[in-house]
Amino acid sequence: MQRLRARLARSNTAFGRSLLALLGGGKLDEEAWEDVEDTLIASDLGVEAATQLVDKLKQRVSAEGTTDEETMRGWLREDLIELIDPSMDRRISSRRLEDRPAVLLVVGVNGTGKTTTVGKLARVMVAEERKVLLGAADTFRAAAADQLQTWGARVGVDTIRSDKEGADPAAVAFDAVKAGQESDADVVIIDTAGRLHNKANLMDELGKIKRVIEKRSPIDEVLLVLDATTGQNGLKQAEVFAQVVNVTGIVLTKLDGTAKGGIVVGVQRQLGVPVKLVGLGEGPDDLAPFDPATFVDALLD
Ligand code: GDP
Repeated sequence: MQRLRARLARSNTAFGRSLLALLGGGKLDEEAWEDVEDTLIASDLGVEAATQLVDKLKQRVSAEGTTDEETMRGWLREDLIELIDPSMDRRISSRRLEDRPAVLLVVGVNGTGKTTTVGKLARVMVAEERKVLLGAADTFRAAAADQLQTWGARVGVDTIRSDKEGADPAAVAFDAVKAGQESDADVVIIDTAGRLHNKANLMDELGKIKRVIEKRSPIDEVLLVLDATTGQNGLKQAEVFAQVVNVTGIVLTKLDGTAKGGIVVGVQRQLGVPVKLVGLGEGPDDLAPFDPATFVDALLD
């Protein structure tokens, strides 16, 4: 978690600084409050959440009769944490059950960091001495399976794939789950394709993957990978995927490259599911569990 703070702090200082400069700038007139609201909106928090935060802060300022910077920072911190909802369960359902491996499906638009996330997640689980198997159900490009297999080799796990470009992704997913069951794996992680330009195709393909896997095993977790740097576009993607599969958790990648961490709030509100993991870089160790308090502290640093 220390690393999360360090990484986020680096990209978010502009946000935190400008917000606190506004709050600490003396006279808090209407214009100043509007600036605070604009800064919050600019961080992709969403208009509704930003307005709500500012209204609450204003009320507290007038009720307590203080504009002390540290006090206001404390209030803002509290309210932001509340907005991210610390009561949500952010654990990944990846425990092997008595008779079968856990099955994780990883979905999202191409380029958001799906394959990288699968690799990093496998590494975390391998470090916990669990037996992991990967499934390369992005069969559209041979390079995608190669990339996953490379990650697998890097972290020491096998990858089930098809050598035929354009093979049926549902069949590969099925084979991966079957192989996982037959080899007593603890967890099977399946990487999928996400070509959003054709929504009907995406729905057909993902829907079929889900149905076919479920012939063999329940799906324990569907992780939606979103690129934090895409802002509101990420929210639109989330909506489309949520229509096709029952998303159970969000992975927000590339948080190391943006000051717009507010998307955490927007996407959780929209889907009603928690951000469970965050991507903080391209390396194998750059994945962290999402913790609201650490995140807000980094945001306000
Ligand atoms: P996919 O098409 O969704 O499977 O995306 P990839 O896993 O191939 O990732 C796309 C690009 O984003 C690659 O260059 C990754 O190294 C990079 N990437 C993935 N996650 C992160 C992250 O958390 N931070 C940064 N900075 N880059 C990332």
